[in-house]
Amino acid sequence: MNLDFSKNNGLIPVIIQNSETQQVLMLGYMNEEAFQKTQKENIVTFFSRSKNRLWTKGETSGNFLKVVSIKEDCDNDSLLIQVIPNGPTCHSGTTSCFANEASLSFLKQLENVIEERISNPKTDSYVASLCQKGINKVAQKVGEEAVELVIEAKDNNSELFLNEAADLLFHYLVLLKVKGFGLVNVETILKDRIKDK
Ligand code: AMP
Ligand code: ZN
Ligand code: ZN
Ligand code: ZN
Repeated sequence: MNLDFSKNNGLIPVIIQNSETQQVLMLGYMNEEAFQKTQKENIVTFFSRSKNRLWTKGETSGNFLKVVSIKEDCDNDSLLIQVIPNGPTCHSGTTSCFANEASLSFLKQLENVIEERISNPKTDSYVASLCQKGINKVAQKVGEEAVELVIEAKDNNSELFLNEAADLLFHYLVLLKVKGFGLVNVETILKDRIKDK
């Protein structure tokens, strides 16, 4: 591959596409060094214009892009890289940087936010501080919220009942995540049960 890095301060635009779904995931830039590293490791490394350094997509989130194929365009100044993504590609939690947030269900969006808080812990994040206490503490919290919900179920205050239902659902999602799962895994089991009938 004889790429022309001369046009754009040594950078060429790179379109990232999911090799299985054909969905366009993101656009990034590569300098020659990023391109060589990508070819060598089969994991996409860009040159980040904001970080002003090589940036391996997924280096902090773990959402790497595994290279399936690399194609250059007609005049060798841009690339189309097909990948298998490991998790959502956009840092906002969507599969693609061009996806509409509204197209994701609210619970899925919430799961993505929880995942982002766990992988990029900030000091003021409740999820991050809870998860840092360990799986047992998260599981205990689910138990507490379940008990609170049971107590409110016996009462007639709808507002308190619904708030405890929300607390339980939220902590349930956090527990699934810290165990390395998501709602999709539970969905699979529930769908199988329907099929068995
Ligand atoms: P990651 O490479 O996924 O570990 O993310 C590291 C940082 O890179 C994030 O905190 C964002 O600032 C940025 N980033 C991640 N993914 C994207 C993306 N698809 N487009 C632009 N910036 C991103
Ligand atoms: Zn071109
Ligand atoms: Zn994005
Ligand atoms: Zn509660």
